Amino acid sequence: MTETIEAPAALRQINHWIGGRSVAGTSGRKGPVFNPALGRQSGEVDFATVEEVDAAVQAAKAAFATWREVSLAKRAEIFFRIRELVHERRDEMARILTSEHGKVLSDATGEVTRGLEVIEFCCGLPTLLKSEFSEQASTGIDVYSIRQPLGVVAGITPFNFPAMVPMWMWAPAIACGNTFVLKPSEKDPSASVWTAELLKEAGLPDGVFNVVHGDKVAVDAVLEHPDIAAVSFVGSTPIARYVYEKATAQGKRCQALGGAKNHMIVLPDADIDMAADAAVSAAYGSAGERCMAVSMLVAVGSVADPLIDAIKERIPKVKVGDGMDPASEMGPLITREHREKVASYLDEGKVLVDGRENCPDDGFFLAPSLIDDVKPGMRAYEDEIFGPVLGVTRVDTYDEAVRLVNESPYGNGTAIFTRDGGVARRFQFDAQVGMVGINVPIPVPVAYYSFGGWKNSLFGDRHIYGPEGIDFYTRGKVVTSRWPDPATSKVDLGFPQTR
Ligand code: NAD
Repeated sequence: MTETIEAPAALRQINHWIGGRSVAGTSGRKGPVFNPALGRQSGEVDFATVEEVDAAVQAAKAAFATWREVSLAKRAEIFFRIRELVHERRDEMARILTSEHGKVLSDATGEVTRGLEVIEFCCGLPTLLKSEFSEQASTGIDVYSIRQPLGVVAGITPFNFPAMVPMWMWAPAIACGNTFVLKPSEKDPSASVWTAELLKEAGLPDGVFNVVHGDKVAVDAVLEHPDIAAVSFVGSTPIARYVYEKATAQGKRCQALGGAKNHMIVLPDADIDMAADAAVSAAYGSAGERCMAVSMLVAVGSVADPLIDAIKERIPKVKVGDGMDPASEMGPLITREHREKVASYLDEGKVLVDGRENCPDDGFFLAPSLIDDVKPGMRAYEDEIFGPVLGVTRVDTYDEAVRLVNESPYGNGTAIFTRDGGVARRFQFDAQVGMVGINVPIPVPVAYYSFGGWKNSLFGDRHIYGPEGIDFYTRGKVVTSRWPDPATSKVDLGFPQTR
């Protein structure tokens, strides 16, 4: 198994995209991009300097002057074309995702499809940007509201959804008339450049969508740039908090979505097979590298033993392998370091299934793993593992289960499995979490609702995409207007009152 560069000439170079064209980096700093299934480096990505970030912002600033003037009808037309192109080429995009992220092709296609739903929502931009009008608010006076774009806005995205999470940001931002600078994850950056080329082909004017790659240098340059009005971030909690604090201190609007530790409660009346299918799918899909993955199973009362047996029966049937093989159901983890960190959780606790056994030799693989009796205070309980390690905690009552959910510092997603509608409704009311599933293990909202967690899973007050996304990328203006007969005009120093 080799992890080193085979021959520098063989590595694909991944460049920035500024002002409608590919731009090679000048910093001399680059990051490795791996094929995680093979465990080999496949490319290298430029890391931007402060000046390169500024060049992207200047391109976006220049484009904003004309893009905000483009009619809603014309913008919608471009969005319909974007929709068609992404739809036609989603298999191509899925292959790019699989080759750099490692997720299996069916999962990668699912990622593109869910992102496409956000693009489709944005095709309705003329309706989404409609405002309100009050005729005769006062005698002879009309009042109406307008939502206008902010200007240049930026997105900073994680490795685990290299296509969909950027779509959550650039699609509503651009639909609303902003121009965009994306700083994607340096671990799987090719999907962003592919997107930039597709947007150009769809007729998006140069400079409306720009990509700068990089690390903290690029992120800090974005956060400190005076011409960036708003920042959307998705990633781990410590970086989300950092980005939110730094961006808002600079006077920027910011939504920063962080990490998660999602509990799935199974009540004694649940259908065991359905709950086991859901737990296996939600814990091991995408090798657990989803912010909505189920990582803690909370088994209430007598359900624990039969549920664990049903999960243990299913685990060996999960086909682990190269995501390019259509037979594979679960691919590798993103890097060797991450794989080692995730595997370290199997060094303690009551490990029922150890994924270090029976997994492919090459690449960054770890097979599905299961730990019983995981309790608060243990690393496996407290940490967002972000890998295919499912912990089970046993409690006696519904109240204890809800307390675990609500005492978590995270509040991204949670789910309950039961046949009792009354208890399920109680849970919807009780759970201090942003997204709740009732017999649905991964409750990612459809595109016309908004996505976001509570507590340490989101810093800021607006969730992402859907109506709150439109709200985030626009600001309100209210116009008060009258067309009086000049003959009736007179000086009046009193405070204006409605008449
Ligand atoms: P990450 O926080 O390491 O990286 C996210 C982005 O921040 C990347 O673009 C990265 O280059 C940048 N970054 C990393 N370190 C930085 C630093 N010190 N200073 C400035 N910028 C820095 O996250 P990741 O590992 O790419 O993604 C996985 C995490 O993202 C998980 O915690 C997962 O839960 C979270 N996530 C959350 C959601 C959500 O909707 N809440 C969705 C997807 C992923």
